[in-house]
Amino acid sequence: MFEIKKALYIVPTPIGNMDDITVRACEVLKLVDYICAEDTRHSLPLLEGIGVSSPKLISYHDHNETEKAEKIISIIKDGYSVALISDAGTPMVSDPGYHLVSACVKDNIPVFPLPGACAAITALCASGMPSDRFSFEGFLPVKEKMLRDRLTSLVKEPRTMIFYEAPRRVLDTAKILAEVFGDREVMIARELTKTFETKYYTTCSKLYDVLNSDPNVQKGEMVIILAPYREKEINDVPDEAVKMMNLLKGELSPKKVCEIVAKIYGLRKNQLYKYFLEQIHEGASEEYVDDE
Ligand code: SAM
Repeated sequence: MFEIKKALYIVPTPIGNMDDITVRACEVLKLVDYICAEDTRHSLPLLEGIGVSSPKLISYHDHNETEKAEKIISIIKDGYSVALISDAGTPMVSDPGYHLVSACVKDNIPVFPLPGACAAITALCASGMPSDRFSFEGFLPVKEKMLRDRLTSLVKEPRTMIFYEAPRRVLDTAKILAEVFGDREVMIARELTKTFETKYYTTCSKLYDVLNSDPNVQKGEMVIILAPYREKEINDVPDEAVKMMNLLKGELSPKKVCEIVAKIYGLRKNQLYKYFLEQIHEGASEEYVDDE
């Protein structure tokens, strides 16, 4: 039998499909003394659905976070267990909870986070973009100048980027994405885990037209996944450098050719070596040159 502790439990709830709540999440919600919820009316059907009858609910949202954190801490210190949920997904991921957890940590109150649904990670998993490193960027600014500035500051971000966006704003955002990122790959995941789940895989320059052609695009919720900045493609080698590589290829080793040409034209040896391998001398060995 699961033993509930005098502690704070962070409990993710579904982002659409009600079957996505975990067995452990249900168990914790049934056993805790209090449940802090962002919108108590919104959470009641979910709680009833999993068999939590007459829960003791505490309203905990963006506007009362700091003052409620103190009250919740005193409840836990009095020997009770408390769970924190948000309207959907994982608390604290663009949802309230930070002040409470931070106060618990400072006060040595145990915090038990449960893993579970999160729109950002769910979307990333279907994006086909690098997932070894990613940056969660939350909601984008609404005002056009701030939006453009924020996106421009991310042009050289080397990690895949994840944004939350409101569907009514996505067409405006698509215009700025095209302006700032051009042909960069982008993916939009709409209504994840729900009946009308839709994924749009395209580039920033085509995004507006792709979205605009779907009459349902302004319905539901969505996540934007943006590909990371990549250094210039290997084929992006100036003509003069290519000519020089061709001239030298019979005289010197591929490594030497690339070293010399890289020095003359201020290019990266690795990039030239890859180009050499693919476009000039297919027989060259696949070893990397020592790069700068
Ligand atoms: N804490 C939640 C989580 O773990 O994903 C996010 C809460 S945030 C207030 C709500 C935003 O998450 C939405 O505006 C949307 O960008 C994204 N979102 C939530 N559910 C989604 C879904 N089913 N499909 C796509 N995006 C979703």
